[in-house]
Amino acid sequence: MERKNFDLAVIGAGPGGYVAAIKASQLGLKVCLIEKGFMGGTCLNVGCIPTKTLLANAHVLHKISHASDYGITTGPVSFDYGKMKSRKDGVIEKMRKSLEGLILSNGIVILKGQAEFLSPREIKVKGQDNVVVTAEKTIIATGSEPLDIPAFPCDHKRVFNSTSILELTSLPKTLAIIGGGYIGCEFASLFSDLGVKVIILEALSSIVSLQGKAVSESLTRAFVKKGIDIQTGVMVEGIDHNSSHLSIRLKDKPAVVCDMALVSIGRKIVSSDLCLDKAGVAVSEKGMISVNDKMETNALGIYAIGDVTGKYMLAHVASHQGIVAAANAGGQSAKMHYNAVPAVIFTNPEIATVGMTLEQAQEAGYNAGIGKFPFQALGKSVAAMETEGFAQIIVSRNNGQILGAQVVGNEASTLIAEMGVAIANELTIDCVTDTIHAHPTVAEAWLEAALMANDTPIHFPPKIKK
Ligand SMILES: Cc1cc2nc3c(=O)[nH]c(=O)nc-3n(C[C@H](O)[C@H](O)[C@H](O)COP(=O)(O)OP(=O)(O)OC[C@H]3O[C@@H](n4cnc5c(N)ncnc54)[C@H](O)[C@@H]3O)c2cc1C
Repeated sequence: MERKNFDLAVIGAGPGGYVAAIKASQLGLKVCLIEKGFMGGTCLNVGCIPTKTLLANAHVLHKISHASDYGITTGPVSFDYGKMKSRKDGVIEKMRKSLEGLILSNGIVILKGQAEFLSPREIKVKGQDNVVVTAEKTIIATGSEPLDIPAFPCDHKRVFNSTSILELTSLPKTLAIIGGGYIGCEFASLFSDLGVKVIILEALSSIVSLQGKAVSESLTRAFVKKGIDIQTGVMVEGIDHNSSHLSIRLKDKPAVVCDMALVSIGRKIVSSDLCLDKAGVAVSEKGMISVNDKMETNALGIYAIGDVTGKYMLAHVASHQGIVAAANAGGQSAKMHYNAVPAVIFTNPEIATVGMTLEQAQEAGYNAGIGKFPFQALGKSVAAMETEGFAQIIVSRNNGQILGAQVVGNEASTLIAEMGVAIANELTIDCVTDTIHAHPTVAEAWLEAALMANDTPIHFPPKIKK
């Protein structure tokens, strides 16, 4: 087999791997990027981008359906889900091509095939390219894939996972979603807004429980208003396939009848085919590669980033870890900090969080307070008829430091950036109140929430003094 020599080999071209490769190339390293599937990994092909493209379709439909509220008369509104799916495929195709161009423009060698270690410094690539790569350093960025549950396997005809459901060309009448985490909830929002009767089956006592009580309750209210049936505290035992429908068996509860089901209860780490033992890289039972804050594994010169490390499992975290790993591989000294990781759930309404929830801050021993401002009281939100939700800031009562922030509502995904900067730089609420926020904008919600945390609201009635 042909041999090729590089300073750095990156395995996996998802948002972790390709960003790491670009950064390393900028630092002057000779880099190869090995990918067995498509450029862009889960995020571009079967994750962030396809779901957000479909959600954008649903958003337009939602707006048109409510056009009369804005004084706009439309005719009967209909849609073709097959065309929506084609648009999604087109977006991915276009972005994949431009990503490949971007990678090549950085002088990175793309090797298409499956990688496995032969030794700590040798990687065999098998597929479209067949080559043995020798590299001083390696970054592993092999990501994750949907977890299959033996009790209710996906047949990808009526029972889907988050990847195969993206291939649907027509919609079911009823869809049961097993798992009320962020991926399940995004699909619930999407399909409900497209007129599908959605039933969420969640084992825990609430949906999106990781995001804290206020967020979970607010999304539950919005989903119930949409007509989504949320069943919490239920254990799915199996799925019976009947000719006309599926019957989802629940422990100690009546079965749920539906046309299709989406299994969305977690992700499996992809590391088992890498022959990590030959590289001396330690893995957990579930395949996770543990790393320190420099993204180094236990094996000298080998780094791991992104979902394969089992930390956060978000595209932007993978990319940031990629920058840190590449900087260290290139001779610089960089470390990861996780105190200000934003997370967005692209439901309708959107949810975005960064830093600690009130419960987490109290558990961590802070004398924590909260400033919460409802969008109902904000001019821009009233003007746009987008008054659902709130923005809240979690603050240390001792020194005013911003510890966390949560927002539910229109433009939450964009709004959260301001709080990300504040928390990453250990800013106080005075920094927010001293900053002039443009009017009328939804970003004024942060100014008002900060004022509320100080008990000095301007656009909200003062607390009644006892
Ligand atoms: C439905 C869905 C929606 C999501 N939405 C969001 C979102 O809105 N925002 C967000 O931040 N995150 C989102 N995510 C999560 C996000 O997609 C992942 O966190 C991110 O893609 C992880 O990046 P990664 O680089 O670690 O791995 P991946 O993107 O999984 O890429 C890994 C790559 O490695 C390749 N590979 C694996 N093994 C080998 C091998 N042996 N040889 C060669 N190549 C190999 C794979 O083919 C793959 O291309 C979503 C995920 C899903 C499933």
